[in-house]
Amino acid sequence: MRRRVANEAVPKEAEVERTTSLPSEKWKRSFRTALLTWFAKHSRDLPWRKSRDLYRIWISEIMLQQTQVATVIPYFERFIATFPTVADLAAADEHDVMRHWEGLGYYRRARQLHAAAKQIVTLHKGKFPTNVDDVRGLPGIGRYTAGAILSIGLDAKLPILEANTIRLLARLSKYAGDCASRQGQEHLWAWSEAILPEAEVGRFNQALMELGSLVCTPKQPDCENCPAVKLCPTFAENLQKSIPAPKRPKAFEETREAAVIVLNRRREVLIRHCQPGERWSGLWDFLRVSLPLEPTRDNLLETASQQVETRFGFQVDCDDPIATLKHGVTRFKITLLVLPAAFRKQPAKLNRDEFVWSSISGLEDRPLHSSARRIAARLDQLLRTSRPKLF
Ligand code: SF4
Repeated sequence: MRRRVANEAVPKEAEVERTTSLPSEKWKRSFRTALLTWFAKHSRDLPWRKSRDLYRIWISEIMLQQTQVATVIPYFERFIATFPTVADLAAADEHDVMRHWEGLGYYRRARQLHAAAKQIVTLHKGKFPTNVDDVRGLPGIGRYTAGAILSIGLDAKLPILEANTIRLLARLSKYAGDCASRQGQEHLWAWSEAILPEAEVGRFNQALMELGSLVCTPKQPDCENCPAVKLCPTFAENLQKSIPAPKRPKAFEETREAAVIVLNRRREVLIRHCQPGERWSGLWDFLRVSLPLEPTRDNLLETASQQVETRFGFQVDCDDPIATLKHGVTRFKITLLVLPAAFRKQPAKLNRDEFVWSSISGLEDRPLHSSARRIAARLDQLLRTSRPKLF
């Protein structure tokens, strides 16, 4: 197929729609027909599309927040196999829910999902609510997620706006402002509402997301194969690179932390259940403490030992790092030193709700965040192949 050049003759409809005002009835009719025809041929066969069960749609929507489709598929399948209904999820141990979420990141989503399932059982007799206010009353569900669940599951006439449709609608409406601003959000929500059809809202909303994800991509949108090419003023004026307006780059903060590894004579490692309000609440971690950014060797080991005492009340002597990992959490770029340590003074008693001794193989059953999982793999390897002096 011949690639359309941006400055060749522009279709008439696009000329008409060069403003940021709402689209005309004619534009909407043309767009809906083009989009749904395209979706009928190009929609992906995704596991959460096999049924219109609100529970499944809800799980998929929460998993898909900030996460790629290909990553979500195996997680979704495993999660649904273990927790096939709201009641199963509500009755599950938090530990099991977090273990099924491990690796997906943004663990708050899993905690909120679990809390919402319990709320559905308590307030809605275990049936996922169908009223938009009830749905929005559940933990972790905002306007987008409620609109997605109820439109996909029930064809409720509710708009959606997420990363893919923000980009698509900014281009279709030639919105050059900041999409995250209040004005930008108002404009885009108004568009997403205005273009909804009377019927097949679920298919329509899914088609919007699919088009944004597969065709109207951030860097090189495939305008040549876009069903909306004749309706798109951004294409007509070759503005794809500047619309949507680039986001301000994230300001990262460098930090340094230590994961302190204490082993007992049975070669069990001391791990800690992260407490509510902490970064990885609900997951397990090694004894993790903050360090100065540029520590010398001596003050590194001393500081880490002191920090363990201050934070957890254990007197330990840390030794040289056995590994250094780099990982990111939200705006933090973390350099994580893995320090073996021995108790200077054995604690009389451990608070069993927070601390446990676990064999390395036993860590398999516990939900860990990804950096802790990497350390567990390294320890497993070390203990199989050598006898580090502190162990
Ligand atoms: S024509 Fe290009 S820029 Fe416009 S909606 Fe389609 S893919 Fe996006």
